[in-house]
Amino acid sequence: LAEDDCPPDSQVLGRATWTFLHTMAAYYPDRADPGQQTMMKSLLSSFSHFYPCGRCASHLRLVMAKDPPPVDSRQSLSQWLCQTHNKVNVMLGKDEFDCSKVDERWRDGPKDGRCSWAQDVEY
Ligand code: FAD
Repeated sequence: LAEDDCPPDSQVLGRATWTFLHTMAAYYPDRADPGQQTMMKSLLSSFSHFYPCGRCASHLRLVMAKDPPPVDSRQSLSQWLCQTHNKVNVMLGKDEFDCSKVDERWRDGPKDGRCSWAQDVEY
């Protein structure tokens, strides 16, 4: 069976979810208004209850209780998500990601233009 015919395992789901979360943060407003901040807080909080990997979700709730997500701006939310993802990376024995490269990875692409097609994607 091709992978696309099967439900996702935790790896496939994890990769897809991080793609969504980092991309969402990359396009969050530079200065979110109070309504947008409330919605983002609520989205992340709900997400930490319903993410369909129980142990991942409870770990995320612990991280969020200690270090609540800053939802005032694109920059702070993107950095928080990067640091949060790094906590998971460390827990799983993976390399940490350099958070200064988060915009390059999730929004702008590398400077050499390798991903220039990404600029055509309309979000
Ligand atoms: P992923 O970690 O999925 O990363 C995808 C891509 O994101 C990478 O290729 C890299 O380019 C980029 N990236 C990596 N780190 C960062 C960063 N810090 N900031 C920005 N971009 C980055 N799995 C478990 O086994 N146990 C858990 O407890 C667990 N908790 C999770 C909690 C959440 C909220 C999520 C979304 C996933 C969780 N996962 C967990 C899944 C796990 O994090 C990985 O998604 C999965 O192991 C696949 O890893 P990967 O190596 O393909 O890359």
